[in-house]
Amino acid sequence: MGFWGDGLGDLVFPPRCHGCGDLLAAPGKPFCLPCVQKIPGLNLHRCTGCGTIKPDQTLTGQATDGWHCPSCIDKPLPWDFLFALGSYDGQLRDWILAQKGRRGEWFAEILGRFWADFIPFPFQSFEKIDAVIPVPRHWTKRWWFGHNPAEGLARGLGGIKGWHLDRFPLFRTRPTARQSDLTPNQRKTNVKGAFAWRGRLQKNATALLVDDVYTTGATMMECSKTLKAAGFSQIAIAVLALGKTRTTHPVRRG
Ligand SMILES: [Zn+2]
Ligand SMILES: [Zn+2]
Repeated sequence: MGFWGDGLGDLVFPPRCHGCGDLLAAPGKPFCLPCVQKIPGLNLHRCTGCGTIKPDQTLTGQATDGWHCPSCIDKPLPWDFLFALGSYDGQLRDWILAQKGRRGEWFAEILGRFWADFIPFPFQSFEKIDAVIPVPRHWTKRWWFGHNPAEGLARGLGGIKGWHLDRFPLFRTRPTARQSDLTPNQRKTNVKGAFAWRGRLQKNATALLVDDVYTTGATMMECSKTLKAAGFSQIAIAVLALGKTRTTHPVRRG
């Protein structure tokens, strides 16, 4: 049976939605339409820098118009493009929690593949992604949890898009506390200098940094700084969900 459940095996095990378990009307998709429609913030237009919701929601669908909020125009973030599938709430939060678990690796990859269907890359410069890079877990945590959800997402996403997955060069130099337990200022300190690059030096390359949740942006800030130092000229960020509580511009270092 193929990954998507198509093939001879479907006669015995008809494909079911990975969200609700209902039989799928359209084969080849991991989730049924009602489950997809329940993803919070799926079609919201956001700031291309920090994900702040755009006040004027006149466009439809997932297309982005490259809008930047006043804060991002004032102080551009160290990446060039940020895309989020939705908001960290409801259905999407449940899925994210499910892929974090010990046996969540397969589900993270399913989410990554599903996500690939929704990511528009409207800017010509991003048509070329040289490396899909998951935000790394420290090896002790990866061992403890059995996997890194960001890796599964990146594998699923890159697999569908035909982009090269680079899961080793970016790594955590030390274990860090869970960001969700900390205040914005503590988060900055927690991840400061916590990433390093052990791959070859890049030139005119574009990285796609992948993670499941984005809240203050402190982790992305550190990862981007490390990737820029490694020579990446462009950085795009794909996060499954934007933290629901974040209403202000991400905290900047320095
Ligand atoms: Zn469903
Ligand atoms: Zn912004």
